[in-house]
Amino acid sequence: MPELKCTVQTCMHNQDYYCTLDKIQVGGNSAKKAEETSCDSFQERGASRIDSAAGSYSNSYSGAAGTGAGKSMGSASACSCVDCQAVQCKYNDSCQCHAGKISVEGGNASQSSQTACATFAC
Ligand code: SF4
Ligand code: SF4
Repeated sequence: MPELKCTVQTCMHNQDYYCTLDKIQVGGNSAKKAEETSCDSFQERGASRIDSAAGSYSNSYSGAAGTGAGKSMGSASACSCVDCQAVQCKYNDSCQCHAGKISVEGGNASQSSQTACATFAC
């Protein structure tokens, strides 16, 4: 499970450059360079089409905080499980990422295709 840092501040899952998800999905099954990968778990912060999702996100956040239920969507932590379709990457083994740490980038992304795993290498 890699340590995950993410610069995508426009994503609703981003909290202080960490990702609040326990597991993300990286796409790019024919990617040969970093720019051809993407974080498919990206969801634009505040976009109207995810209003209901944002609502349930807040609910699960306060629920988890209230019960002290340990690591959950509400607590950004350094490590996340990464399902990755970029099978050309040297860190990819059976669609799982085995890098020690990865960096997801995409400064002003408004859709997942504008994000990328900058750690991709082949
Ligand atoms: S872009 Fe991906 S890695 Fe970054 S915060 Fe969003 S879901 Fe997490
Ligand atoms: S480092 Fe490679 S295997 Fe890991 S998420 Fe990035 S592209 Fe996928």
